[in-house]
Amino acid sequence: MSSTPEPKEEDLPEDEQPGDGEDLCPACLTPHGPLAHFCGRCGAPVSALAPMMPFEKIFAEGYVYRHATESPGKFIVVAGIWLIFLPMAIQGALMLNAIEWETFKDWKEPGFAFFNILGLVVPLGLVGVSTVIIARTTWAYFRQRSGPSDVEREEVT
Ligand SMILES: [Zn+2]
Repeated sequence: MSSTPEPKEEDLPEDEQPGDGEDLCPACLTPHGPLAHFCGRCGAPVSALAPMMPFEKIFAEGYVYRHATESPGKFIVVAGIWLIFLPMAIQGALMLNAIEWETFKDWKEPGFAFFNILGLVVPLGLVGVSTVIIARTTWAYFRQRSGPSDVEREEVT
């Protein structure tokens, strides 16, 4: 009379469950945890959330480009740094320009949103970090060119 419905285990898609196997960094194939946003070895973004976190993105890219800022070597590296970080600095400057400074008069009010502070810190960080990286790379490049050890100078001239 009463028929108990049999549980259909095949209805549970296994591919939608979090896998046990570790994911691999697309850049250097180093395994990383399921919660990682950036590769711990090379700093490449490995999650869909990574581009949405500006500061972690900046720090990760700074990790990647640290070698470039210390010894850029080829001119193409310096040009690449400019191409990457100059738009970032401009974007930060535009964000600073778009801030409605009148809202900061009410910073003592309880209704003053923390989001306003965040909207000030993020563009400042964009301008500051990108400017420092551009300056360091360019400075290191010209210092390297004028130095005695110009192994890669032939590729530039
Ligand atoms: Zn990696």
